[in-house]
Amino acid sequence: MADCIFCKIIAGEIPSKKVYEDDVCYAFYDAAPQAPVHFLVVPKEHISGPSAVSEQNCAVVGHIYAVIAKLAGELGLKNGYRVVANDGADGGQTVGHLHFHVLAGRSLAWPPG
Ligand code: AMP
Repeated sequence: MADCIFCKIIAGEIPSKKVYEDDVCYAFYDAAPQAPVHFLVVPKEHISGPSAVSEQNCAVVGHIYAVIAKLAGELGLKNGYRVVANDGADGGQTVGHLHFHVLAGRSLAWPPG
């Protein structure tokens, strides 16, 4: 999508610190980390957010969770991690391309503020 910052990152038009890539998804470190380890995993297909996930496109979500589990193992996140997908204004979504935050490396508060 033309004006989507994450589509531009996937296309290599905006630089990113890549963690992982395959045919379906792209993972890169968050520019404003909220934990010692904070990366994002995004589908290469432009999906505007969690509320745009449907029966037609939901296979990418399962794939992304499998990728996250693999990356967590490779990165040694033995103490656990959190996966977050924000949707809309109240959910705190600021980029309109589905993305999964992976946060680790410190104890994370619950419930979130
Ligand atoms: P959200 O607020 O859930 O939509 O998350 C968007 C995330 O994208 C934020 O944590 C930002 O720090 C991150 N972000 C925005 N632009 C970039 C970028 N160019 N490279 C890496 N992370 C970014």
